[in-house]
Amino acid sequence: MRADLHVHSNASDGTDPPAEVMRRAAQAGLDVVALTDHDTVAGHAQARQALPGSLTLVPGMELSCRIDQPQQGVPPGGSSPRGQPQRGVPGGSSPRGQHSVHLLAYLFDPGHPELAAETRRIRDDRVLRARAMVDRLIDLGVPISWDDVAAVAGPAVVGRPHIARAMAASGAIASPDQAFTRDWIADGGRAYVGRYALDPVRAIALVRSAGGVAVLAHPRADRALLISDAQIADLATAGLDGVEVFHPDQPEAEQASLLGLTRDLGLIATGGSDDHGSLTGHRIGSHVAAPGAYESLVARATGAEPVQSS
Ligand SMILES: [Zn+2]
Ligand SMILES: [Zn+2]
Repeated sequence: MRADLHVHSNASDGTDPPAEVMRRAAQAGLDVVALTDHDTVAGHAQARQALPGSLTLVPGMELSCRIDQPQQGVPPGGSSPRGQPQRGVPGGSSPRGQHSVHLLAYLFDPGHPELAAETRRIRDDRVLRARAMVDRLIDLGVPISWDDVAAVAGPAVVGRPHIARAMAASGAIASPDQAFTRDWIADGGRAYVGRYALDPVRAIALVRSAGGVAVLAHPRADRALLISDAQIADLATAGLDGVEVFHPDQPEAEQASLLGLTRDLGLIATGGSDDHGSLTGHRIGSHVAAPGAYESLVARATGAEPVQSS
């Protein structure tokens, strides 16, 4: 059983339509694939329709969250009350002591009113924020327009990767990854604008109330945004079901350490490629969940069922 539980389509910031993602998943020899676009379920219908006979689809989503990060001089817990949505400082850089966190949600009821409302709010705010970043880039002399970025995004909700691709196409930078520096649109960068995101404790509660399973995505993928064992234990107390252990950006030593932690905390050890089509080098099927993880997810979920082609 090979289950890649983390892939994107052009319903968010991947480059391939959901049907093509399903085709590639089958071609990679996967038994199970989870479509986990950022803050949207818009790709699920097409993925279902295009599902090859050999493949099981887990409808999912990757929720944008923000966590308080204790730092020197900042009291643990920061200044935002737990359970409240948090917003980046308007017109400013990422607030000190807060880091972006991704939560993978699986097999939830997509019609759950509160979860649907929150994801809509995240998507709406993403557009406002993207427009604000484009305005700042223009002020900084980058020769792009909102129309350029919208054309790159196509049907997707506009995000930083689309802006990065438009910047590269304009010649302002040599390749999209160069946009993710402090000079441009990395967290805290000159043209960065913070946005609405969920407290992970609240996001976990929402996913679970929608009958879904909540898994912390790639907690050790970015050295600047490491989520500690203690923070993961806190999230487990708040109802977290699992941790994404196997991920291409997580060093093997971190994967081993996280695997031990999931065993200690009784959490499901998932994994996935985080494939974004041609946007990144991550390749579908490169990383998969631990044996038994898929079955555990299905056993816990009450909001939706895995999909097989009819
Ligand atoms: Zn992520
Ligand atoms: Zn992802």
